[in-house]
Amino acid sequence: MDLSRFPRRRYTAGPTPLEFLPHFTKALSPHGDGPKVWIKRDDMLGLFPGGNKTRKLEFLVADALAQGADTLITCGAPQSNHCRITLAAAVKEGLKCRFVIEERVPGSFHEDASGNHFLFRLMGVESLTVVPAGTNIAQAMQQVADALAQTGRKGYIIPGGGSNALGGLGYVACAQELQQQFFDQGVQIDRVVLGSGSSGTHGGLVAGFLGNHIQIPITGIGVSRGSAEQESLVHKEAQAVADLLGLCMTVPREAVVSVDGYWQPKYSVPNARMVEAVQLLARTEGILLDPVYTGKVMAGLIGLKRQGFFKAGENVLFLHTGGLPALHVFEREVLGQAKVAP
Ligand SMILES: *Cc1c(COP(=O)(O)O)cnc(C)c1O
Repeated sequence: MDLSRFPRRRYTAGPTPLEFLPHFTKALSPHGDGPKVWIKRDDMLGLFPGGNKTRKLEFLVADALAQGADTLITCGAPQSNHCRITLAAAVKEGLKCRFVIEERVPGSFHEDASGNHFLFRLMGVESLTVVPAGTNIAQAMQQVADALAQTGRKGYIIPGGGSNALGGLGYVACAQELQQQFFDQGVQIDRVVLGSGSSGTHGGLVAGFLGNHIQIPITGIGVSRGSAEQESLVHKEAQAVADLLGLCMTVPREAVVSVDGYWQPKYSVPNARMVEAVQLLARTEGILLDPVYTGKVMAGLIGLKRQGFFKAGENVLFLHTGGLPALHVFEREVLGQAKVAP
């Protein structure tokens, strides 16, 4: 599949590592009855310290530049990785950047917060509009764009998580990168496990696997929605990406699976299984997960293993989508020094 007709900026020098996790695998299944766990290090993408939004922004920012925009406008939660990476891309390209921040958990926005919020300030976000949960975010971003237009500037609106058809191409490119790595490293992966949020990562990879005839099942772990709602969102995204690619195919509904039960009590709120997962990977492999996304997604992989979902010895690839700055917002929780939900 030829992606070269889509303008793209490059923010990462080469492929991110694909690695086996021997100690984590052993800790997860001391009797060898579980899967061999591999990791794709998309936490090491460019726009430091990386994360899945970097891949989407390669295509989105190229489009913004082609349209002559001088400002990127996007939205997210108070600790949004997506906002932070969008701002880093803007700085790198000599653009300005404005956010609409949705306070999804009431009272969660703090002017002096650390983590991603600290990085918003350090990298110089131009403006930040905080709105309550349930606000029409598309409209709020359009208002920011209209205000800019009145001063003769040009904003480019990037939807939440960078998840539209164009952003999803980032994970089509990842599918191609993985295909080459499987071949080069002689690895046969039986299943991919990844986080499923605003849908661009999951939907893009589903479309990329279909388009490249990669027949590896993908299991999403929901980070904010129940299965039915999440699967329909991802299916729509996968179809939009397939259409943009001109694949002339209907994405099979059963190609999209999202497991529920690991994100509760609420999006971004810590729980005990997340703490276990973050500690286990840190202490067996020295690889850090984040509390909002990848910690809960790895908790899902561990939970599925305990339910007997994987065959003994099968190769399962965990996609590490980044999110590290949020770790510093929940240091006490992940160390087990503060109470979290069960
Ligand atoms: C945004 C994000 C996700 C979810 O990816 P989507 O494309 O929004 O579904 C997963 N992990 C991290 C660290 C993220 O920042």
